[in-house]
Amino acid sequence: MNSSNIDAARLTLALNELRLPAIKALWPRFAEQADKEGWPAARLLNALVEHELAERDRRRIERHLTQARLLHGKTLETFDFTAVPMLSKAHIKAITAGDSWIGKGGNILLFGPPGVGKSHLSSAIGLALVENGYRVLYTRTTDLVQKLQQARRDLVLESAIAKLDKFHLLILDDIAYVTKDQAETSVLFELISARYERRSMLITANQPFGAWNTIFPDPAMTLAAVDRLVHHATIFEMNVESYRRKAAEMAKGSGLRQQKTSPAEITTD
Ligand code: ADP
Ligand code: MG
Repeated sequence: MNSSNIDAARLTLALNELRLPAIKALWPRFAEQADKEGWPAARLLNALVEHELAERDRRRIERHLTQARLLHGKTLETFDFTAVPMLSKAHIKAITAGDSWIGKGGNILLFGPPGVGKSHLSSAIGLALVENGYRVLYTRTTDLVQKLQQARRDLVLESAIAKLDKFHLLILDDIAYVTKDQAETSVLFELISARYERRSMLITANQPFGAWNTIFPDPAMTLAAVDRLVHHATIFEMNVESYRRKAAEMAKGSGLRQQKTSPAEITTD
């Protein structure tokens, strides 16, 4: 065999040093097959390189998924679009392709009362975007504001906001839950201004813009923030009944039916 002419141990070490783990793992098997089937050398090299590239892509996406801190198990596949008829599945799918808006400062705003699937959908959009090669961070707005407030106290707010630039999309869930003391420091306004027309945000809220005065220090700043957010935005209103409540009611309903049928079953005995 040709491969016996080389020092396999040294090759393995070299592939380690070159950080080519896929080629390191695959070359003995591929080389054997190539020898047996008489592949041209270029075909063997190409096969190994393609596997290394695919593996690198897979690892990168895995790393980005860890960094994204998405909600577990919330995917577009598990999202029931029939529960939100004003939302087009095709439109959401097109959004997850990303190229038309993401990274250019385009935003998405999801409005709706509690339990209608805002968190589920935003995390699912984030997941699809990561799978399509984008970098995403999902966070509850209050958590991020807390971190940015700390950064402001440490006099590193600017660099903390700049670090978030590596994420093409920042998902701020439940913006209306920002508390009064959080609003007063206006770190959220600085974040919105910094990303304006450069980096995208997906924001969920259970309150319409009119009620956003509690999120920012004063009405003028609220107006300025909303202005920047909506300038290049797609807005979805999810005004449906709470999915959570509906699911609970359905569970309760089936329980009642069971109770009703069981006495009947007893009497037939
Ligand atoms: P919101 O963020 O609007 O308060 P969530 O996204 O937390 O709502 O949804 C509440 C629960 O109901 C979650 O477990 C979520 O997965 C589920 N849910 C909501 N809407 C849907 C839907 N259309 N299809 C499937 N599950 C849904
Ligand atoms: Mg939510």
